[in-house]
Amino acid sequence: MHKIQVADRAFGIFLENENINKRISLISIQLNVDYEDRCPLFIGVLNGSFMFMSDLLKEVSISCEVAFIKVSSYEGTESTGAIKETFGLPQDLHNRDIIIVEDIVDTGFTLEHILAQVHAQKPASVKVCSLLLKPESLKKEIPELEYVGFEIPNEFVVGYGLDYNGLGRNLKDIYRVID
Ligand code: 5GP
Ligand code: MG
Ligand code: MG
Repeated sequence: MHKIQVADRAFGIFLENENINKRISLISIQLNVDYEDRCPLFIGVLNGSFMFMSDLLKEVSISCEVAFIKVSSYEGTESTGAIKETFGLPQDLHNRDIIIVEDIVDTGFTLEHILAQVHAQKPASVKVCSLLLKPESLKKEIPELEYVGFEIPNEFVVGYGLDYNGLGRNLKDIYRVID
């Protein structure tokens, strides 16, 4: 098995870049159909979504706008539940079609926090596109979660934008913790 070390933990290969990109192609085809002639605003949630956002939007061929917000709730391998917001929503969302782009939905607390702020501005529609979803650890219902790359078990993963204590975001594949 392809193993790597990130800081003090060992990780094994979980999703290879080639498979990630195949899945992204399918999601983008769906987005191109669903949002034809609607000029949606994609809002990436930093830091984790930067690589997914980039690969996804290279395949999105409709007219669209792109923005980012920055939030964080994780320390080490545990969600703290307390959402720290470093910079918030950049522009007027009223009457816009919004697509929030996340790296991973775990408990759902981060998204709940973001969605409340987005809905407060009365956009025309709001959907969430997340590369990964951990269905077993989801604590909130997220009806906006329309586009999901992969459903994964409740294990800590790193790579392709996702970090372990700030490291590993640059890995092109996704790894899961093995000890
Ligand atoms: P939630 O608020 O849904 O519990 O967590 C969402 C955020 O926690 C994600 O955007 C991500 O930054 C972080 N997170 C959740 N699970 C993992 C994981 O397995 N690995 C990494 N690196 N980050 C995670
Ligand atoms: Mg995230
Ligand atoms: Mg993190």
